[in-house]
Amino acid sequence: MHELSIASSIVEYAEEFAREHQANRISKIELEVGQLSGVVTDSLEFAMEEAIKGSVLEKAQVVIIEIIGQSICNQCQTEFANSDWYTPCPQCNSMDSEIVAGKELQIKSIVTA
Ligand SMILES: [Zn+2]
Repeated sequence: MHELSIASSIVEYAEEFAREHQANRISKIELEVGQLSGVVTDSLEFAMEEAIKGSVLEKAQVVIIEIIGQSICNQCQTEFANSDWYTPCPQCNSMDSEIVAGKELQIKSIVTA
């Protein structure tokens, strides 16, 4: 399950962030996870619960913000929600589109305690 390795790199980053800011712990961390990032939000949530044990994140509030997949059609420029990579354009049915949002997998903010 690759969510586990993602969770542990998030914890590593938070540990380093806390060190740099001379904080003993983190009170809140916000993560942005795109629908098209390949990460299952529920699995990540579960993996985080395990990964934060004994770390600076142990008592932190972990907020996962899901970003909806969004594409623009190359044929008619319609913008539409694309939750699974394979959604055709609702306007002209074309599969020729570009993803403009939803691939995010990043730490949005960290608040030290
Ligand atoms: Zn179209």
